[in-house]
Amino acid sequence: MRIVNEEILCGVCQNERAIIFCDGCDLPLCANCRFFDLWGYGCGHVDTKVFCQKCNDDIKKNPYGGAIK
Ligand SMILES: [Zn+2]
Ligand SMILES: [Zn+2]
Repeated sequence: MRIVNEEILCGVCQNERAIIFCDGCDLPLCANCRFFDLWGYGCGHVDTKVFCQKCNDDIKKNPYGGAIK
Protein backbone atom coordinates (compact mmCIF):
# COMPACT_ATOMS: atom_id res chain seq x y z
CA MET A 1 0.00 0.00 0.00
CA ARG A 2 1.60 3.25 -1.12
CA ILE A 3 0.31 6.68 -0.15
CA VAL A 4 0.29 9.47 -2.76
CA ASN A 5 2.36 12.43 -1.56
CA GLU A 6 1.92 14.67 -4.57
CA GLU A 7 -1.02 16.53 -6.02
CA ILE A 8 -2.25 14.16 -8.68
CA LEU A 9 -5.70 13.33 -9.89
CA CYS A 10 -7.32 9.95 -9.54
CA GLY A 11 -6.57 7.82 -12.60
CA VAL A 12 -10.08 6.38 -12.64
CA CYS A 13 -12.54 9.28 -12.29
CA GLN A 14 -10.02 12.10 -13.06
CA ASN A 15 -12.06 14.16 -10.64
CA GLU A 16 -10.75 13.75 -7.13
CA ARG A 17 -7.30 14.07 -5.68
CA ALA A 18 -5.58 10.69 -5.53
CA ILE A 19 -4.64 9.48 -2.07
CA ILE A 20 -3.22 6.02 -2.71
CA PHE A 21 -1.70 3.90 -5.49
CA CYS A 22 -3.20 0.66 -6.76
CA ASP A 23 -1.05 -2.29 -5.64
CA GLY A 24 -1.72 -4.02 -8.95
CA CYS A 25 -1.10 -1.43 -11.65
CA ASP A 26 0.22 1.67 -9.79
CA LEU A 27 -2.75 3.74 -10.85
CA PRO A 28 -3.38 6.69 -8.49
CA LEU A 29 -6.76 6.31 -6.81
CA CYS A 30 -9.08 8.63 -4.88
CA ALA A 31 -11.13 7.60 -1.84
CA ASN A 32 -14.12 6.72 -4.01
CA CYS A 33 -12.27 4.56 -6.51
CA ARG A 34 -10.09 2.41 -4.27
CA PHE A 35 -10.90 -1.07 -3.08
CA PHE A 36 -9.38 -2.49 0.06
CA ASP A 37 -8.57 -6.10 0.46
CA LEU A 38 -6.98 -7.95 3.37
CA TRP A 39 -4.54 -10.71 2.63
CA GLY A 40 -4.08 -13.02 5.58
CA TYR A 41 -0.99 -15.16 6.12
CA GLY A 42 -0.72 -18.09 8.51
CA CYS A 43 0.31 -16.74 11.91
CA GLY A 44 -2.38 -14.05 12.09
CA HIS A 45 -0.46 -11.55 9.98
CA VAL A 46 -2.73 -9.53 7.71
CA ASP A 47 -1.57 -7.30 4.88
CA THR A 48 -3.74 -4.47 3.58
CA LYS A 49 -3.85 -4.22 -0.19
CA VAL A 50 -5.39 -1.45 -2.24
CA PHE A 51 -6.66 -2.03 -5.76
CA CYS A 52 -8.50 -0.25 -8.52
CA GLN A 53 -11.70 -1.94 -9.64
CA LYS A 54 -9.94 -3.70 -12.51
CA CYS A 55 -7.17 -5.21 -10.37
CA ASN A 56 -9.59 -6.02 -7.56
CA ASP A 57 -11.45 -8.31 -9.95
CA ASP A 58 -8.27 -9.67 -11.53
CA ILE A 59 -7.46 -13.09 -10.12
CA LYS A 60 -3.80 -12.75 -11.18
CA LYS A 61 -3.32 -9.50 -9.27
CA ASN A 62 -5.63 -10.26 -6.38
CA PRO A 63 -5.52 -14.06 -5.92
CA TYR A 64 -7.06 -13.88 -2.45
CA GLY A 65 -9.99 -11.63 -3.23
CA GLY A 66 -10.32 -12.01 -6.99
CA ALA A 67 -13.41 -12.95 -8.86
CA ILE A 68 -14.02 -16.59 -8.03
CA LYS A 69 -17.77 -16.54 -7.76
ZN1 LIG B 1 -11.52 8.46 -8.37
ZN1 LIG C 1 -5.02 -1.44 -10.64
